[in-house]
Amino acid sequence: MKNNENPDLPGRPARPAAILVQPRRLAAAAATVAALALVLLPVSANVPRKPAPAAPAKAASAPPAATPPDLTQWCARLAPAVPGVDLPACRASGLQPGAGRSVHGVPLWTNDVLPATPPKFKVLLLGGIHGDELASVTLAFDWIARSRGVQASAGPRTTKTTQPTLADVAWRFVPLLNPDGLLHSPSTRVNAHGVDLNRNFPTADWARDAQPYWIRRTKRDPRRFPGLRPLSEPESRWLIEQIDQFHPDLIVSVHAPYGLLDFDGPPPAPRRLGSLQLDPVGIYPGSLGNYGGLVKNVPVMTLELKNARVVPPRELAAMWDDLQRWIREQMTNPGVQASAQRSLVPGTRVIGAARRVD
Ligand SMILES: [Zn+2]
Repeated sequence: MKNNENPDLPGRPARPAAILVQPRRLAAAAATVAALALVLLPVSANVPRKPAPAAPAKAASAPPAATPPDLTQWCARLAPAVPGVDLPACRASGLQPGAGRSVHGVPLWTNDVLPATPPKFKVLLLGGIHGDELASVTLAFDWIARSRGVQASAGPRTTKTTQPTLADVAWRFVPLLNPDGLLHSPSTRVNAHGVDLNRNFPTADWARDAQPYWIRRTKRDPRRFPGLRPLSEPESRWLIEQIDQFHPDLIVSVHAPYGLLDFDGPPPAPRRLGSLQLDPVGIYPGSLGNYGGLVKNVPVMTLELKNARVVPPRELAAMWDDLQRWIREQMTNPGVQASAQRSLVPGTRVIGAARRVD
């Protein structure tokens, strides 16, 4: 059972390298070093390496230069698995591999769509937190194209332009936070350690509530295992780094298939996005809504699409348009944000949603 696997062994190749190279037979390790260099390239591409101490003669030949993960190869794996994402669109998406990796070492690709001038509002959009919710990945790719369209159609901007527009919004897209889950056959909600990433964030109630909630309320549902401790998983650790680095004004977390809009953090919430009606469902220990909304004080919209595999193009457009309207209101009415901050009272919401979502 995957829940019994040790999350202390997240599958990163760095430790095995140290264990293999240091013992007894350095000469025999030369070939291992070369082989491991190939394995480690994606992980260590951005990490300066120390010169190898007293390398044996057979290790004198330098390993091949680091090759960054290739988007075309990634798209060849992803596009066939996700309805509505074709190969050309994936390749044209401009995704970057960055430094984040899943348990299995798959890059956590991102894409920043940025204004020409300093942004006046920043949105972090997350798809594929649960690997079996394919439509959330479809939405992310569709909205990458839409946000680029906003930038392309924007008139000239200067730093002296005072009235903010939607072209002043910076987007960071993470179309697939849980690639190991999605690429598993069949796709899984949990990551490769059997952890529900959306229960693994360091919320204030995690230590007290996460395990009891999983045991008593979910009856040890393996699809909702929160991990043995918060941030036990590389994917959740990487995501909170993104939040801290990007400083979003809004986090949009896309799920399926419950067909509603949830909202955590400073109000005001939109009443609807497309056909998804606002229907706050409470919080869960370790969920992103709980962490982002209450710990980080950032509004978190959780979109629960109606179908985990398919999202109609018309619905994608309607949700996008409604979200654009909401963002414009936030940018053009600073009082809304200020009043929202004052009205936030952390801890007033309670666990106990009768319905199971996200
Ligand atoms: Zn979900």
